[in-house]
Order: sequence, then structure tokens, then C-alpha cells
Amino acid sequence: MTTIDQHNPFLLAMLCTVVDSIERELLLKKQNRRLHILNQVVIETTRNGIIITDRDGNITEFNKFAEILTGAKKQDVINKPIPNAKTNDFIKEVLQTGKEYEDMEFMLRPKMGQDERVCLFDAFPIRDENMQIMGAFAQFRDITERYHTQKQINYLAYHDDLTGLPNRRFFTGHIGELLRQGVNENRIFAVMFLDLDSFKKINDTLGHNNGDVLLKMVAERLKACCHASDQLVSRMGGDEFTILLEEIKDQTEAIQVAEEIIRAFEKPFAVDGYELYITASIGIAFYPQDGRDVEMLMKNADIALYQMKDDGKNNYNIFKSIPSGGGIERLTLENSIRKALQLEEFVLYYQPQIDSKTGEIIGTEALVRWNHPTLGLIPPAKFIPIAEETGLIVPLGKWVLKTACLQHQKWKEKGFTPMRVSVNLSSRQFSKHDLVETIKEILLETHIDPSYLELEITESMTMNVEVAIEILGKLKELGILICIDDFGTGYSNLSYLKQFAIDRLKIDQSFVRDIMTDSNDADIVATVIAMAHKLGIDVIAEGVETKDQLNFLRSQNCHEVQGFYYYPPIPAEQIEQLLMQTTTIKTNLQG
Ligand code: C2E
Ligand code: MG
Ligand code: MG
Repeated sequence: MTTIDQHNPFLLAMLCTVVDSIERELLLKKQNRRLHILNQVVIETTRNGIIITDRDGNITEFNKFAEILTGAKKQDVINKPIPNAKTNDFIKEVLQTGKEYEDMEFMLRPKMGQDERVCLFDAFPIRDENMQIMGAFAQFRDITERYHTQKQINYLAYHDDLTGLPNRRFFTGHIGELLRQGVNENRIFAVMFLDLDSFKKINDTLGHNNGDVLLKMVAERLKACCHASDQLVSRMGGDEFTILLEEIKDQTEAIQVAEEIIRAFEKPFAVDGYELYITASIGIAFYPQDGRDVEMLMKNADIALYQMKDDGKNNYNIFKSIPSGGGIERLTLENSIRKALQLEEFVLYYQPQIDSKTGEIIGTEALVRWNHPTLGLIPPAKFIPIAEETGLIVPLGKWVLKTACLQHQKWKEKGFTPMRVSVNLSSRQFSKHDLVETIKEILLETHIDPSYLELEITESMTMNVEVAIEILGKLKELGILICIDDFGTGYSNLSYLKQFAIDRLKIDQSFVRDIMTDSNDADIVATVIAMAHKLGIDVIAEGVETKDQLNFLRSQNCHEVQGFYYYPPIPAEQIEQLLMQTTTIKTNLQG
């Protein structure tokens, strides 16, 4: 038997090294085991489906949620490629190229006969210490309920109940989107307003039910005339329909469509055993000659319709602009905006935002007006679109932002309790590369506490999800708040709301206007509020004009409101008077 010479320093050192390395190995094993257990716990308790594969794409890990979502059993898939062909293709690409996937939306059907589930899917490679790909990690989240809620909200919000056609909101939103995308100058499109002649008589004599049946048939005939992908038929309400022809070379194309529609009405409609003959009148306006924004195009198509109704019916009429003596012409307006900025003719009004439970003012929205020396106070709808088109919105928006922040500071210095100020941001400002820098500068110059500044953006600005996440992330880093204005009127992807780090949704006034009369709108408002609460996002409703609307919103736990029921937008001095009154009331109550 060998004994160790305790006096031999060389042997002793060797022994220590061996003991050390055994201890280290044991520790490493213990740590690895702990890590493994931890991994298992995380993998098995997460509510995401998780699949891990080896270098060849064979499954090494398949958690419980993956079983639930795919309908496959772990023991049947382990050491085999992923059974779902689409997922397998993604994984192959991850393993071959190292590509990473994030938030890919796709459908999974757990078992034949079961409903499809909508999942968000991420996949990325697992690398060893030399950065060599040794496997792939995939996870998917079930977003089915959120997806269906979004689809339902979108459908209800954008379609007409009776005919299933897109409604006014969809139609105007679609044209707005077309204009925002920047239609090129050579392109023209036509907006048609169609109205049934003598529909009222039919409704009165045959009853509303038969009137409804007729409207549905009319919708079908219009769809048959305008079925191309660049043609859009909508119902405005009553017996009014609109048609958009997006891609036309010249006006004759629109005239041909109008003539086809008039011809389609030559055949009778069979309603309740009657053969009804009904005719239609159509007014047409063209972009850009008859209007450069949605309102103007719709208004002029409507004028064209009524110009013709005076001359007789069953025909179409093209809008003819009447040269106006007064008014503000576009070109002069553009130059004047530039000058008005220099001459400081713009002013900010502030509309109080109210706590719906206590009636207290909790913030204001800054809304710009143009105090024109001869024309008086011009509302933003008259000059913001032109300022946007010409890019003048950028300096104007900067002025608005700075003025609102300075005003906030002035109120603070006068001793009023600081409150949030919301400023509207135009899409042109949002896409400027120096937006974050500009805001940073204004924060520094005005010394406003950023947590009192809120920027109102619109849904359309978030269409490019990656860009929006990046910009909004940077804005949030500055400590300011973000609100989505006119919520519900754009095409938003609700599944991204959380990622955009939104603080507040502002429900558009078009929904609030009809909550007491249109059950669809009431449902939408209630659903949006509930969904926002679930996501931890605050909600404010704008355009609240009546006590009933307020009560409905209160009953749905909408804690913030803004609208004429309380106050219209008012100058800064009047806000001070309001704040002083409320302070006096409070002091009196306390004293
Ligand atoms: P918005 O941001 O949705 O502002 C709300 C508009 O609704 C305001 O019109 C306000 O006066 C109006 N309003 C408020 N309460 C009620 C109500 O109870 N009933 C009704 N019918 N209307 C109500 P305003 O001031 O004419 O502004 C119109 C739009 O112009 C704003 O819509 C915003 O998109 C734009 N705008 C205003 N100021 C600025 C600005 O400084 N920068 C930018 N980029 N846009 C601005
Ligand atoms: Mg706003
Ligand atoms: Mg709004």
C-alpha cells in the first residue's frame, strides 16, 4: 500500500490540486443540476408553448403548453422533427441561417374538429460558447381571444349592420389613408355620392322592413357594378351610398361606372311580391381637382348630387366648382402660414380633461388656433392639413410643443397644482428623424417635468410596427406619456398595444357621439375600455357632450373624459380662472 509522505511538498501540492478539481467538478455538477431543474420549472410553468430542438431539428424539449396548443404528445414527438410543417420550415431556417423570428402571427389547430388558435411565434438559434449553432428555441403565445376581440371591434366599427357594407367611418378612413400614403400628383380618383330617388315614398307605403330589404338589394347591385379590388362601395346611412374609384386614368372611367350603375337600376327589385322600379342619382368629385382632403371630396360629391337633383333625377353629375370671391385659397394660405409663424399669430387653446368621478380638472389638451388679423380665429381643420402637406407642421408643431410646456410651467409658478398637458403630434413630426432630440431640447429649455407632458399620436403612426416601437421606446425613455388619439378610427393592431408602451387610449368622439343611440358603438366603447384596463392602459373618452354619455362612460369605468359637456377648448387665462374657482371651492370646504 502506498503511503503519502507528508513532508514531500511536491506530492502535497499534487494532492491539493486533485482535491480542488474534484470539488470544482462536484460544484459544477450541482450548479448544472440546479440550472437544469430551474430550466425545467420555467419551461413547464410558463404559459407559452416551448419547443427546443437539437442541431438537426429533432425535438429535445416539448413542454405542456406546446402539447395543449399543438395537440401532440411529448412522447410522440421527442427526438423527431417538429410535426407542424410551417413551424418546421421556420426552425430549419433558424438552424441553417441563424435567423431570428419574433411575433410571427399564425394559426394552429390542436386537433381536427377543434377551433383554430392564433399564436404569436418567436424562434431563435441556441449557440455554444464558440457561437456555433447547437439547436433552436421556439415559443408561441396563444392570443386567440385578443385576436377575435380585435376582429369583432374592427368589424362592428367599420361595417353597416343592415347591408354588411363598409360604413362611413371605413370609407373616410380609407380615403384618409390613401391621402396619407401620399398619392402622386398625376393620379386621380373619384368619390361618388349616390342617393335613391323617392326612397322615402317606398318606406312610407311599404313599411320599414320592406325598405330595409330594398336597401340590401341595392347594396348587392352596387357591389356587382363595383367589384374590382380598387373600387369600394359603402353605405353612409339611410338611402345614401358612396363609391370610391381608386385607380382611374381619367374622368371618363368614372362616368362609365356611373352609367353602369344607372343602368343596373333599370331592372325592377322584387320586394314582398311587388316589382319595384327605383332610380338613383349620383354626384361625382375628383381628387385632386375638387378637394385634397376627405371632407372636401365628400362635400363636393354631395354638392354635385344635390345640384343635379334640382335639375331632375336618375342621372349622374360631375362637381363644378363655383369660383369663390372670398375664402382662403390654398396657395395664399401656404404662404400665410409661413408668415403667421414669424408674426406669432398662432395661439393655443386648452381643453380641460376631467376626472369622471369627481369632476376635477386633471389635465388639458393643447389645441392650436390661428388668430388671423382679418379672418379671425381659424380652426385647425382649416390649416393643419395644408401645414402637413407642405411640411410647415414641423416648425408649427415645435412651437405648439414649446408653448404648451412653457404654459404648464407658468401655471406651476403661479401656484396651481401641476397637471398633465397633452399635445397633438402630426405624422409628419412623428417620422422626422430628429423628433426625440427636438423634444429633449424642449424639455431642457422649458424645465417641464416630463411626466406631465403627454404626446397624442394616431393609430396610423403605429402602422410600421418596428419603427413605432423604436421611436415610442425612445420617447418613453425621456419620461413623457403617450396617448393614442382618435382610437378606433385607424387600423390598429391591438396585439402591439402593450409593446408600444402606451399610457392612454383616447376613444374617438365618433363612437362617443352615438353611444346612446347605436348599440354597436356602445359595445365597442365598452369593449375598448375593458380591454385597455386588462392591458393596464388608461382610457379617456373625448367628445362627451351630454349627461347620458357621461353616465354611460362612468358605468363602464371610464375614469377620464373631455368634451363640451364640461368645457370647450378655452384660452389659457380662462383655465386659470377655472382653476382658481376650484381652489377657492376646496379652500372654502376645508375652512
Ligand atoms: P383632436 O386632437 O381629436 O382634438 C379634439 C377636437 O374635438 C378639438 O377640435 C376639440 O375642440 C373638439 N371637441 C372637444 N370636445 C368636443 C365635443 O364635446 N364635441 C365635439 N363635437 N367636438 C369636441 P379642434 O380644436 O378643432 O381640433 C381638431 C383637430 O385638429 C384635433 O383633433 C387635432 O387632430 C388637430 N390639432 C389641433 N391642434 C393641433 C396641434 O397643435 N398639432 C397637430 N398636429 N394637430 C392639432
Ligand atoms: Mg387630440
Ligand atoms: Mg381626437
